[in-house]
Amino acid sequence: MWDFETDPEYQADLDWADAFLREEVEPLQYVLPHALQKEHPIWQELVPPLQREVRARGLWATHLGPELGGPGHGQVKLALLNEVLGRTPMAPIVFGCQAPDSGNAEIIAHYGTDEHKAKYLQPLLNGEMFSCFSMTEPQGGSDPKEFTCSAVLDGDEWVINGEKWFSSNARYAEFLIVMVVTEPDNPPYQRQSMIIVPSDTPGINILRNVGHSFGGGEPGRGTHAYIRYENVRVPKDNLLGGRGNAFVVSQTRLGGGRIHHAMRTVGMSKRALDMMLERAVSRRTQGELLSKKQLVQEMVADSWIDLEQFRLLVLRTAWRIDRYKDYKRVRGDISAVKVAMPGVLHRIASRALQVHGSLGITEEMPFMDMISNAYHLGLADGPTEVHKVTLARTLLSNAKPADGLFPSMHIPAAREAALAKYADVLERVGDA
Ligand SMILES: Cc1cc2nc3c(=O)[nH]c(=O)nc-3n(C[C@H](O)[C@H](O)[C@H](O)COP(=O)(O)OP(=O)(O)OC[C@H]3O[C@@H](n4cnc5c(N)ncnc54)[C@H](O)[C@@H]3O)c2cc1C
Repeated sequence: MWDFETDPEYQADLDWADAFLREEVEPLQYVLPHALQKEHPIWQELVPPLQREVRARGLWATHLGPELGGPGHGQVKLALLNEVLGRTPMAPIVFGCQAPDSGNAEIIAHYGTDEHKAKYLQPLLNGEMFSCFSMTEPQGGSDPKEFTCSAVLDGDEWVINGEKWFSSNARYAEFLIVMVVTEPDNPPYQRQSMIIVPSDTPGINILRNVGHSFGGGEPGRGTHAYIRYENVRVPKDNLLGGRGNAFVVSQTRLGGGRIHHAMRTVGMSKRALDMMLERAVSRRTQGELLSKKQLVQEMVADSWIDLEQFRLLVLRTAWRIDRYKDYKRVRGDISAVKVAMPGVLHRIASRALQVHGSLGITEEMPFMDMISNAYHLGLADGPTEVHKVTLARTLLSNAKPADGLFPSMHIPAAREAALAKYADVLERVGDA
């Protein structure tokens, strides 16, 4: 029942993925202009053959169930694979499971028409298209009730007007799933809808592509689009999930998306720990290796404990998703994972940086990128604070108030009950 071992057959797949990543995928980041710039000749030359190898091995898009052409491995096996893939940003693209496409595919699979599935879902699953999820607005992201970007029906078309902020990958996407107010008079959670918008539709104006402040790069080379939708017209049938149902639809993608990020974060954190270990046994100071210093040993030990605790939480949550097949039932677990995730990566990457000294802070090592990524993980898909509240509310909703004035575990009452329960024993042998 309780088992921490991977079956040998799947372990062979994981070992294959590990070696394949090291030899074929990790080098890509140094030669590709951008992971998503698939029309580039270098991308076209190098990436599709690797994707074919992954398919041949049966590891393509393993987050998908058999109904969508996936192997139906489930979340626990996916977690183990994602731990490997988390080492390098290019890996999910080579293995067909990158965000936000994996989540967008889930939405279309659940809510799309046959035509949507042929036009958008199949190419996404085949790795022939990239997509974008356009929800956050410049005036606020944590509270979707604040969104104002709207769509009104004009004959057989929706006409979209408004702004969206941080629409990741919009510049490389063939279509966007946009969250828009369509029912302004409904209660707050039933005012918005999801609409598919092909990215060549007139009126989609990318005001700028925002990048992360660490990592340099020229302004405008970022991937998070600030978009103004101006009289963007799409067919009425591009609606996903019915009018006013955007909140329900978005939960389809966010539950899975959050846990998949966490699985990859285990991989990235493990990479930082491995680098810390290597440096500790390589670098000398005061006539001895860094690994001999107790304060360095403390960093190593704390990092391992951080990582393994988090990994167990992620695997247990994955197991519960497989077991219950109901994201609502594991909402609190996923929020717990989401809350823990940025801190674990931040702490381990920071310690690894510290152990590498001045080299650690340079662009010649990946630690500042990892730390920047930790902030990303604490914001995207909802900030940490919101998930703490979700978790707390889940736990509190199952709690029962005490019967009387004092807590049910109040020691005087427990002692009194014990004295009453064993009164005859105490009377018989109490003085012995
Ligand atoms: C790397 C990255 C990629 C992203 N990609 C996408 C994307 O593809 N599509 C998309 O639509 N969006 C995307 N986002 C946006 C993301 O969803 C928002 O950043 C997130 O929802 C938070 O919204 P905000 O940034 O407007 O912060 P705000 O809503 O302004 O919140 C700021 C801060 O206020 C605090 N806070 C907020 N709410 C509460 C609360 N209830 N209780 C206590 N404190 C609170 C938190 O500290 C929070 O960080 C991405 C973000 C990042 C960082």
